[in-house]
Amino acid sequence: MKKSIVILGAAESGVGAAILAKQKGYDVFVSDGGKINDHFKEEMVLYNIDFEEGKHTEERILNCDEVMKSPGISEMVAIVKKIREKNIPVISEIELAYRYKANSIIIAVTGSNGKTTTASLIYHICRHAEKDCALVGNIGISFAKQVALDPKKMYVAEISSFQLDDIKTFRPDVAVLTNITEDHLDRYDYKVENYIHSKFRIAENQLESDVFIYNLDDQTTKKYINNYSIKSLLAPITMSKELPQGAYLANAKMHLKWKNEEMQMSIDDFTLKGKHNQYNSMAASMAATAVDIRKEKIREALQTFESLEHRMEPVSVIKGITFINDSKATNVNSTWYALESMNNPVILILGGVDKGNDYSLLKELVQEKVKAIVCMGTDNRKIHEAFGDIVSLIVNTENAADAVQAAYHFGNKGDVVLLSPACASFDLFKNYEDRGNQFKQAVKDL
Ligand code: ADP
Repeated sequence: MKKSIVILGAAESGVGAAILAKQKGYDVFVSDGGKINDHFKEEMVLYNIDFEEGKHTEERILNCDEVMKSPGISEMVAIVKKIREKNIPVISEIELAYRYKANSIIIAVTGSNGKTTTASLIYHICRHAEKDCALVGNIGISFAKQVALDPKKMYVAEISSFQLDDIKTFRPDVAVLTNITEDHLDRYDYKVENYIHSKFRIAENQLESDVFIYNLDDQTTKKYINNYSIKSLLAPITMSKELPQGAYLANAKMHLKWKNEEMQMSIDDFTLKGKHNQYNSMAASMAATAVDIRKEKIREALQTFESLEHRMEPVSVIKGITFINDSKATNVNSTWYALESMNNPVILILGGVDKGNDYSLLKELVQEKVKAIVCMGTDNRKIHEAFGDIVSLIVNTENAADAVQAAYHFGNKGDVVLLSPACASFDLFKNYEDRGNQFKQAVKDL
């Protein structure tokens, strides 16, 4: 008999998993408790996949052999609890994709911040080195769909902690853990240890021949790494000391040492600017080296990478005021790095839905660099409380146009207006892309 799989959630990962499972001969049923986006429905019809929306038919779901739970669905959802009670095996989409990756190489990137940038950079290097590769995961198409429709010899996968929660055998040849800061704690019973644990799972199945790249300057990673018996070769990156193996920064140069390879590159030659991007560039170079890409190729690729939309994206300069869109900064840590990279007085657009932010982490940089704060959110009390005594100009706005107008009003030649909200966007916007796009439009309309 065919093995039956139920896919919970019909968005990119769910539909990707369904296509792959169908292709591999499973009896597939997709169930989504909400409304399914039209283009996903069309895709399922095209592949002859059975689905339901707006409900979860229990007798069908609770009698399957295996469940693939989409990363967006919480353990608190009633049907998930019932699945767990019945001990039906639950896997994530990357686990399913992994089963069918054949002998391809996987470079997997996880972490609280910098995943997309680092994964995109690794992909850019791999492409530049003419590898047969694809970028999968949060950006672009799901890993499962890529494996089903256009398999490659190498996958660069951006992986969230939710995707790691339900892995069983997933084993990346090269794993990158960019950093760990508190985020998404609502999904981890508000226990930071649970979140940390799920991040380290990226290395859980790695073997001696695999490589684990991590940031030695990240206090949480450093503190917890010894709690895990990681078998793979350790490739740390740091800015604080020289290393015999790994990548480090000294005298404004990246030094990379791996087996018999050595490489040096001035950080001025990285197209991506800012300290956080120096970490990302080091991690990406290390990953590329681990899959034997030549240093000339790495060097050239780091010099030609273009910055990504909504991440420290330069928008325009109006009357000497520079506007930067960092809408993707949805937590305090990313805003910290954005501010850290600023050399001019900043008018900071901050706010939205706060996931339990500790703004005190930003105080020193705000005091040093920020002349005005424009709050953009429905509830800005915490921002006023945190910065009221160190920034004299703080105003409230409730849409991108007003925020940009206010920021422009406070600006002088040489200032930077930085949208780096430290918060999620769904109080006023559809998502961070919508927030960034509305910001850019408002700047164009000035
Ligand atoms: P992710 O995919 O993990 O959300 P992105 O690469 O999209 O990460 O970057 C998200 C935000 O975090 C951006 O605002 C960026 O400026 C900031 N950021 C990028 N890399 C890092 C890093 N290594 N450490 C801290 N913040 C970072």
